Amino acid sequence: MNQNQLQTPIDYLKGVGPNRAGLLRTELGIHTYQDLLNFFPNRYLDKTRFYKIKDLERNNSEVQVVGKIVHLKTVDQKRGKRLVADFIDDTGKMELVWFRGHKWIRENLKLNTPYVIFGKTNWFSGLFSMPHPEMELVEEYKKNLRTAMQPVYPSTEKLTKSGITNRAVNKMMQQLFLETGAKFYDTLPESIKEELKLIPKAEAMFNVHFPKSQELLAKAQFRLKFEELFYIQLQLLMKNMLRKNKIKGFPFDQVGEYFQEFYENHLPFDLTNAQKRVIKEIRQDLGSSAQMNRLLQGDVGSGKTIVALMTALLAFDNDFQACLMAPTEILAIQHYNGIKELTADLDINIRLLTGSSKTSERREIHAALESGELDLLIGTHALLEDKVKFKNLGLAIIDEQHRFGVAQRAKLWRKNTLPPHILVMTATPIPRTLAMSLYGDLDISVIDELPPGRKSIKTVHRYDSNRLKVFRFIKDEVKKGRQVYVVYPLIQESEKMDYKDLMDGYESIVREFPMPDFQISIVHGQMKPADKDYEMNRFVKGETQIMVATTVIEVGVNVPNASVMIIESAERFGLSQLHQLRGRVGRGAEQSYCILMTGHKLSADSKTRLETMVSTNDGFEIAEVDLKLRGPGDIMGTQQSGVLNLKIADIVKDNDILKLARSYALQVLKEDPDLAHEKNKVIRYTYGQLAKHKNIWNYIS
Ligand code: ADP
Ligand code: MG
Repeated sequence: MNQNQLQTPIDYLKGVGPNRAGLLRTELGIHTYQDLLNFFPNRYLDKTRFYKIKDLERNNSEVQVVGKIVHLKTVDQKRGKRLVADFIDDTGKMELVWFRGHKWIRENLKLNTPYVIFGKTNWFSGLFSMPHPEMELVEEYKKNLRTAMQPVYPSTEKLTKSGITNRAVNKMMQQLFLETGAKFYDTLPESIKEELKLIPKAEAMFNVHFPKSQELLAKAQFRLKFEELFYIQLQLLMKNMLRKNKIKGFPFDQVGEYFQEFYENHLPFDLTNAQKRVIKEIRQDLGSSAQMNRLLQGDVGSGKTIVALMTALLAFDNDFQACLMAPTEILAIQHYNGIKELTADLDINIRLLTGSSKTSERREIHAALESGELDLLIGTHALLEDKVKFKNLGLAIIDEQHRFGVAQRAKLWRKNTLPPHILVMTATPIPRTLAMSLYGDLDISVIDELPPGRKSIKTVHRYDSNRLKVFRFIKDEVKKGRQVYVVYPLIQESEKMDYKDLMDGYESIVREFPMPDFQISIVHGQMKPADKDYEMNRFVKGETQIMVATTVIEVGVNVPNASVMIIESAERFGLSQLHQLRGRVGRGAEQSYCILMTGHKLSADSKTRLETMVSTNDGFEIAEVDLKLRGPGDIMGTQQSGVLNLKIADIVKDNDILKLARSYALQVLKEDPDLAHEKNKVIRYTYGQLAKHKNIWNYIS
């Protein structure tokens, strides 16, 4: 067909005037015929089956029932009236209910005449009811031609109110298929289609919008999902290849004094195999002439810092500077202290720069950076300020899931001829499958092993009614010289209430653990930073035994003597947050505990989260469950990544298709990196369109 036709503005489709076109654009982002074609249903109503009233289930799916109305009555209610019909089949009785349009319904409904009704059911006082059902006389129903599987398109309130109902969208789609003749050319090569038994594009498009059967719908969806994921993977892999070829980086070809000296004489412990492997991967990157862009994943406590330091040593060996940026001041300070200690015997100039650095100090730092006298700058976002200019920054290490925008990164290297190597460290385990889609353009290293000798943290779930027992346990631990965290949720919308919970909790703990035997710290978001740091430090130094806090302690702090983590209202935390909090203990030699406190009333999801925490300490396993519970959009940092704007595939549910698509994309590029072969012509064309335009679905029909 004529491809240009699909670029026709949606205004020109019969039945779509300027008003509707405007709404389609603003509400759904549909500008062209093409956009409408790629506007996929998010579910289908199965009208292939009729339910008997006795077989109705108490769920909210939409069902179809055949029966007749035997009685109609009006019932008074608080505001207005409702119309109620008794509806029966040969197995039982249910009610149909209307809150509006009584007159019309009374005049038009036929008693004792068979109807097909369709809609959602409610369960109320021992009876099923269906509000505002769709109804059709069986006689009429039999006459009409229909698709049994009815697509339901995503919608908005504004659209429905303006009359762009599901039926209207369906009509437009019909019109589109009519006007274009529905001869969509294929976007995948024959070889792949044959191997995977994929149906042709045109047939897939037809059946996704007008399914002829469950089976064809499944084939259509599989074909379209595969295609979507295939091109995304292809794009990510190409980007990665391009970066390796085109973006030159500083070759760190020397493994010199600093690295050797540290490795041979100052390593405080044996590296784990995972650490060794990761360092090797990094060295390979740095030795090549391409810029490194690597994501280092490792659970809390897996020992990422030492890897970062050794990477920095390679930079110094090659006469480059390095920087390390952390998300909070406390964390930056801990990195600074830790790295100072590790490198005490090496001749390295390290400074700390944060928002609270004094002006005179800043001046010194700026000067030392520009002269090249400073080797390593550790700090917070303050590193990105305009005044911070490096003489020759060769490596930027970023701790904890900052994904910098291009502009921010450029700031770091604005004085360089080449971009520095980048190492992003994150403790949020990203399931491999998700990482493939999100960071397909980054290389990934994983530390999947904890240093030896760690006792795994014992996690239990306790109800609030057992609080006294929990307090007794805390007392015993404190008597043994341990320290304890008690963490309260603080969620913005209900901040006042949460704050009250925190203060109530604090008071009850103070009552239960009186001075002078016990010293208690409290830290929360409404305190001044200086007060927070003061309290934090008292706990770090061991002057207080119990730290009552909100989630401000979530990232970073390292108090190896703390062995108990109590999480209050644990049902209100997300899984990854629970896991991060738990990671605050288990850092010393002692057995550590995590106690999840909740009330008795728990939702199914909360139960799953708690059970997951109790059953495993493995961050990756937890991340997989989290992904299933919440969906990828909620996982930290994924929102910014447009990749997840999928039209038809679902990263979690279509995991297998994703893997398949990736393996095919890899294979194609391996054989034919420039997509020059005749058999890949279709791919080259489609990819070219996709590279030109952002949204891949815009141009691959
Ligand atoms: P994270 O990956 O959470 O940043 P850190 O780098 O802070 O972890 O390391 C956690 C603790 O484990 C630190 O006290 C560190 O000294 C220690 N550590 C790191 N690697 C090893 C190792 N191979 N053997 C023993 N202890 C290690
Ligand atoms: Mg760390």
